[in-house]
Amino acid sequence: MASPPRRIAISHCAACKYFKRKCPPDCIFEPYFPDNEPAKFECVHKVFTACNVGKMLKAVEADQRAEAANSLYFEARSRLDDRVYGITKMLSQLNREIQYIEAQTATIKSEIEKIKALVTSQTGASSSNYSSVGYLQPQLQPYQVSTSNPNSPRVDEPVAFTRNMTNP
Ligand SMILES: [Zn+2]
Repeated sequence: MASPPRRIAISHCAACKYFKRKCPPDCIFEPYFPDNEPAKFECVHKVFTACNVGKMLKAVEADQRAEAANSLYFEARSRLDDRVYGITKMLSQLNREIQYIEAQTATIKSEIEKIKALVTSQTGASSSNYSSVGYLQPQLQPYQVSTSNPNSPRVDEPVAFTRNMTNP
């Protein structure tokens, strides 16, 4: 009695599925662009083309390819979301946040120094006298970045964000 033919599930990566080809065992896309995430591959293919993505993945060490694939996807998504600035928009916003936080930090450090100087000048003063420095409390507002808020910082041009990266 002949057994019924067994169905073998052939797994394709999203790239081979997209191109309607058989996924070879050593397919460079298979580990990073699984067939259940077709949008991920289509996104990088639109921006970089599959050929270039394959070249870039082969150019990095095997243990870094997953990160490289995710990085390419992130960049491609950013580019498709904003055709003009791409990932630079996010970097500019992050740079503005860094600048704002640095300014706040400088203000707080300055206030701390003022309080220290005041306390030092009041040598022997009781702890109740510390209330006299209450006016030195910094008035800080939480910083919010929202792309939907028309009052949020606009990204009219990319800010040179390398300054903070090279000189932390
Ligand atoms: Zn494949």
